[in-house]
Amino acid sequence: MIVEYFRPKDIKETLDLIKSPEIKTLIMGGGTSIDRYANEPFAVVDLQDLGLNSIKAKGKTLEIGATVSLQALFEHPDIEPDLKVSIRMERALNLRQVATVAGTLIASGGRSPFSTVMLALDASIALEPGDENIALGDLLLFREEKLETRLVTRISIPLNAQLAYEYIARTPADVPIVCAAVARWPSGRTRVTLGGTGGAPVLAMDGPDGGGEEISAADAYSRAGDEWASSDYRQEMAQLLVKRCLAKLSN
Ligand SMILES: Cc1cc2nc3c(=O)[nH]c(=O)nc-3n(C[C@H](O)[C@H](O)[C@H](O)COP(=O)(O)OP(=O)(O)OC[C@H]3O[C@@H](n4cnc5c(N)ncnc54)[C@H](O)[C@@H]3O)c2cc1C
Repeated sequence: MIVEYFRPKDIKETLDLIKSPEIKTLIMGGGTSIDRYANEPFAVVDLQDLGLNSIKAKGKTLEIGATVSLQALFEHPDIEPDLKVSIRMERALNLRQVATVAGTLIASGGRSPFSTVMLALDASIALEPGDENIALGDLLLFREEKLETRLVTRISIPLNAQLAYEYIARTPADVPIVCAAVARWPSGRTRVTLGGTGGAPVLAMDGPDGGGEEISAADAYSRAGDEWASSDYRQEMAQLLVKRCLAKLSN
């Protein structure tokens, strides 16, 4: 239950509020998943007056403010078509208009198309205090530890990487049982990520040039069985999806 609501005007005030020793105080992006704490009293710090809702292209990088909505990113002209697909698969339109990019990455699980794609793009996360930049892969593994009393201000992705995303689900609009994303930079650097199970998507490969993507995908999902699919099935499908991604990238 939300018992106090704050709407600070700057980052310092925000950081002071979330350090409050008196009451559990949560950062609120879009607020669409904040009710998971409904059983205990907590305060929220709404970020909407911090001006973190712009998207800027800087050289070869797209800087996305933490409170940019999924829909605003979806509509941005500079993003790769398959990043758009992953956003469309992440949430229906109503939720995309409210959910923020930072909140979605922080709250997402292993079946998140958007996190799988952002991990392939090696998204960089800016944190305050300290203006520290960490890789999304590190944030996903250590979310609680990295985010305790810290604020995500910005997410940066490359504009010069090609991207392909493929998935298998029960129906075209359902969350994936297996999904794969491949990002490739002009240098040949290639990253392969997989989603569809577990607490976070996984990095299967990050190499200076292509080669071995399908084998790496099969290895990464060698223990990916759950109630939705066996690990044998996921391994096979992961290879197939990566193959499809590579074919897309070579067209
Ligand atoms: C009807 C409905 C259906 C949903 N279905 C699904 C589903 O199928 N699968 C699924 O995974 N989720 C689902 N969700 C959850 C939700 O849509 C997503 O997790 C959402 O994208 C979170 O984004 P948000 O901006 O609303 O985050 P918030 O709810 O505001 O915050 C999410 C978390 O991130 C933290 N946070 C937010 N912004 C920052 C920041 N800048 N810095 C540091 N910490 C921050 C918050 O403290 C909180 O812990 C659903 C929600 C609703 C209401």
